[in-house]
Amino acid sequence: MTGWVTDVHPTREELDACVHCGLCLPHCPTFRLTGNEAASPRGRITAMRAVNDGVLSVDEDFEEMLGFCLGCRACEAVCPGLVPYGRLFEGARAEIAAQRPTLVSSLRRRVLGRVLPTRRLVETGSGVVRILQKMRRLLPGAVGARLDGLRDLSDNPPSSLGRVAEPEGKPVATVGLLAGCVMDSWFGAVHHASIDLLRRAGYRVIVPRGQTCCGALAAHDGAAADAKRLAEVNRSAFAGVDIVVADAAGCSAHLADYRHWVDGGIDAETKDITVVIAEAIADGRLPTLEGDDPVVYQDPCHLRHAQRVTEEPRTIVRASGHRVTEIDPDGICCGAAGIYSVLRPRAAGELGTRKADQVRATGLTTVVSANPGCEMQLRTHLGDSYRVIHPVELYRERLLAESV
Ligand code: SF4
Ligand code: SF4
Repeated sequence: MTGWVTDVHPTREELDACVHCGLCLPHCPTFRLTGNEAASPRGRITAMRAVNDGVLSVDEDFEEMLGFCLGCRACEAVCPGLVPYGRLFEGARAEIAAQRPTLVSSLRRRVLGRVLPTRRLVETGSGVVRILQKMRRLLPGAVGARLDGLRDLSDNPPSSLGRVAEPEGKPVATVGLLAGCVMDSWFGAVHHASIDLLRRAGYRVIVPRGQTCCGALAAHDGAAADAKRLAEVNRSAFAGVDIVVADAAGCSAHLADYRHWVDGGIDAETKDITVVIAEAIADGRLPTLEGDDPVVYQDPCHLRHAQRVTEEPRTIVRASGHRVTEIDPDGICCGAAGIYSVLRPRAAGELGTRKADQVRATGLTTVVSANPGCEMQLRTHLGDSYRVIHPVELYRERLLAESV
């Protein structure tokens, strides 16, 4: 069969924005790894256009070309034609899901679209992971290695769901915090730091119970119907707030693109936590602390490329009394990319090793990153002697230390 079958397929207008200039090629991690045009953004767009024109079908080669793509959107950030590559990628993945389903890929999409957004199931799964972490030394190498990137789940604070935090004076605005799928159970300390900083910055903060997973992982893997459903649920859950904030870069990038999944997007501004906190630091609602301790900052792709947010997390690191040490002028993906590191361990491992080598070359042992996937990938490739931390945690830690 040739052509598209879903209502989220890449469109002629989106595809025609590419003028084949090739400026994106040196910024693409998979092109850097292979040197192959077929593993480049231009090659992938050419293949999508051929499907659109009825010349190619959504076949095994097309699936491989799109399956090898990290969805990091580095190509989008440098494209002079403003090609919406992230949208094309999600549309093409939805076509692959619809036209080439297998038992394994359908089950995987079921997990991403149905299981991950079900809090009870995530909590049960997290309980199992907690037990496995305690048995770490008894586990076979490959299984144990998968756990090494995680935080110690027995240290995870209580859930933030349902919390309401009031500022001292009249609220600047009401913020709704996205709890996410695994953020609450695995990275709860990031939520607690976010809520406390938002409150100190003058916001009323609510974490609505009716919310669900943002749907980014489902959308990236082609589970379009689930991505739409999850966006609808969140649209209702966050009705009435002024700003919806996410403290995982992958989630804030997806919220910013909700208009592709639900009519009109979400009825509020959406922002990454680093943007809101940097704004509060800039206008003096939050203090800038003294100090010059160097730390490494790593750009998550979904902040740097998808949202073009680069300065704000660095502002937070500096306001924490730290000097920012750069590692990668091109912001090449660390290889985490949602579930990419599970599906494509070789390519992800190569990118993770390169990123870890860049960190090691600085001689520093603290790395700041604002995305859970990057954090786990960095920890996996750096090992226990390195500390990987979210910028809001770093800042709050220093604020608390100063107030003692
Ligand atoms: S995606 Fe953009 S940068 Fe890449 S070849 Fe097309 S027009 Fe050029
Ligand atoms: S999203 Fe990343 S891996 Fe995919 S084509 Fe663009 S730059 Fe390459």
